Amino acid sequence: MATAERHVPHLKRDFAALRKDFPALQQLVHGRPLAYLDNAASSQTPLSVQDAVAEQQRLNHSNVHRGVHQLSERSTAAYEGAREKVRRFINAPSLAEVVFTRGTTESINLVAASFGQRLEAGDEVLITGLEHHSNIVPWQLLCERTGARLVVAPIRDDGSLDVAAFGRMLGARTKIAAFAHVSNALGTVNPVASLIAKAHAAGAVVLVDGAQAVPHLRVDVQALDCDFYAFSGHKMFGPTGTGVLYGKRALLEAMPPYQGGGDMILTVSFERSTYNALPYKFEAGTPNITGFVGLGAAVDYLSGLDFSALAAHEHSMLEEASRRVLAEVPGARLIGTAPAKAGVLSFVVDGIHAHDLGTIVDSEGVAIRTGHHCAMPVMERFGVAATARASFAFYNNHEDVDRLIAGLKKAVEIFRG
Ligand code: PMP
Repeated sequence: MATAERHVPHLKRDFAALRKDFPALQQLVHGRPLAYLDNAASSQTPLSVQDAVAEQQRLNHSNVHRGVHQLSERSTAAYEGAREKVRRFINAPSLAEVVFTRGTTESINLVAASFGQRLEAGDEVLITGLEHHSNIVPWQLLCERTGARLVVAPIRDDGSLDVAAFGRMLGARTKIAAFAHVSNALGTVNPVASLIAKAHAAGAVVLVDGAQAVPHLRVDVQALDCDFYAFSGHKMFGPTGTGVLYGKRALLEAMPPYQGGGDMILTVSFERSTYNALPYKFEAGTPNITGFVGLGAAVDYLSGLDFSALAAHEHSMLEEASRRVLAEVPGARLIGTAPAKAGVLSFVVDGIHAHDLGTIVDSEGVAIRTGHHCAMPVMERFGVAATARASFAFYNNHEDVDRLIAGLKKAVEIFRG
């Protein structure tokens, strides 16, 4: 599919031109043009998303599903329209399997709280050493509740998963295997299709944390054959407070509700309630309607991009930045050098705290992330308290890389004199 995409003329690949669609990228920060390299935390939204959000607020603000009046019908059409866009984008078989959540964190918590009810003492949840806290802590809580055991497959010195160890750690007791598609702290792209197949062969149900994959790779949940796939709107050029849980219908049908309230029920009496059909069974209360209208617009935008050209463009920035950080920034060391990486560059510089690097490059208009990136076990694995992280989106360019390198050199000059 990736090669075929290259030849589809309507898919956009002029990324320099697309940068103009993002108002935030046109501004000066500390008097300098903004070089935004914190896309793994949150990416910027294009004007089309901002317009969709504004229009929903200006003209259509109302509740979904319950109203018969015009505004409610418009809101419902836009909200459910977004679900269809997301369904198509990830190639989910049906709308019933696309649950809207607050984000990846809530999607994972939903599975841990609901599917997790079938776990018992002695069962195991297998994760990996490169997970974000939101793919660790919900499973820890589940293990505390049930007496199940959290098992962690190790990562190698380059930040890639030890796939053989992962395979050995799967067993009859493994009820759930949960792993990132792409690591936010290291950039490692996991061989998810083969991990999913291995986990299924052992009888485990698989959740993939796709928060960092969806903005960079074409994701097809049917081709992957994952049981659950979780991701967030704000990392894929959409609004905050929006997220998706894809789940296979048979599993979702068998799972108890996650939260109780309006919209998730069919009937309520004081004796007992019956639950709504999928996906509404998992969407209690008034959802983030405006946010999902924006997410629909973000999916429209992403669907128009040539992802193989996007991957090549991001890879060339990552490759240049990795090479130049090592060559031009004295004392720099990369954290995460796996052969398969998406646009994340994590590094440390001897003798300079990551936060100081971040503050100095910010004063030059360069936005990067510093800290543990909600992946403390990854930091511990590499013996560092924090890293500086530059993360790329398709709208970045080689000038952003120049600016990053110049900012880092300035930091070294200031600290080393
Ligand atoms: N998993 C990964 C790999 C992430 O990068 C993030 C966000 N940094 C999350 C989960 C959590 O996403 P959210 O905060 O949007 O719920």
